[in-house]
Amino acid sequence: MAFSLVYLDSISSPLSGASLELIAAGRRLGDPVVVSAQPVSDESVAELGAAGVSGVVVPENAGTEAQTNFLTFETQLLAIALSETEASGVVLPNSLNGKEIAARLGVKLNAGVVTDAVDIAEDGTVTKSVLAGAYTTQARVTEGPLIVTLKANSVEYTAPAAAEEPDLLEIPVEDPAPGARVVEVREKAVSGRPDLTAARIVVSGGRGVDGDFTPVEDLADALGAAVGASRAAVDAGWINHDLQVGQTGKTVAPQLYIAAGISGAIQHKAGMQTSRVIVAVNDDPDSPIFEIADLGIVGDLKNVLPQAAAELRKR
Ligand code: FAD
Repeated sequence: MAFSLVYLDSISSPLSGASLELIAAGRRLGDPVVVSAQPVSDESVAELGAAGVSGVVVPENAGTEAQTNFLTFETQLLAIALSETEASGVVLPNSLNGKEIAARLGVKLNAGVVTDAVDIAEDGTVTKSVLAGAYTTQARVTEGPLIVTLKANSVEYTAPAAAEEPDLLEIPVEDPAPGARVVEVREKAVSGRPDLTAARIVVSGGRGVDGDFTPVEDLADALGAAVGASRAAVDAGWINHDLQVGQTGKTVAPQLYIAAGISGAIQHKAGMQTSRVIVAVNDDPDSPIFEIADLGIVGDLKNVLPQAAAELRKR
């Protein structure tokens, strides 16, 4: 069987749902080999094996100063892994870094790149969402290996029937910027909630929260969901810019998206309209958000959200 490469930018233990989805997508193209620029623990190697991964490729100098220019480093790592395994395709996360690495790899190998994928067929046909999620199209690459970035929550993961301990391969990767050194690494603030782009449930607040995100955050915690926001809420300084959903923010496609106090402007819809189920809470029955909502609740979010959270906590 042919191989496929699955690029994971971080490997947690237990493996995250997002990693398992990428592995499931890789399996459609061949026997999946995970590529990571970070060191992979023995525990994680065993978990990757249980998920059906047949090999794990890391650089000999994983986690060292050589990764200063890490996008170039990771592109080189994937290019070498591709030539070693002769894999038919590479699956990456649809994150900013994933798309950047995919583009660099495409240029380096003169290969076709498909971004924003929501499905991959065994024959390499990729279904992708276009025009801010308004349509889906099918694409096939005609040059080189298929390089594809997959949106979170698109592909179902099922555990393989049989699993084996994968081979661990350490490969030398040249330092792409030998003159440069890391001076400081700033840690991102950790919220304890799921990552917005990978979450299965997102609760977002807009201008309607009127400066107080507590009802939105409280419902999110009752559901184990990520918190999102409209640009109006971000611009007002009520919540961190990292959580903005939309054209100039993050694109999300959770199983459930709850929009509270959000009117449904086209730029907001661009980031969330491919969500599987959309619930809108808005006190204006004519708000455009109800046009794309599967379930609409006309009411004040300050009443509706706490009631929903209290009901969920009873279960
Ligand atoms: P509003 O449109 O003001 O809507 C607030 C809603 O809350 C109303 O429907 C109101 O009925 C309801 N409401 C008020 N009080 C309550 C209450 N107590 N209970 C329940 N409902 C209540 N926007 C984004 O979100 N993301 C983007 O990435 C983005 N990018 C943009 C890029 C460009 C180039 C431009 C020009 C705009 C962009 N915008 C973006 C802005 C976008 O056009 C809208 O202005 C914005 O989405 C509006 O946010 P909102 O829905 O929270 O606010």
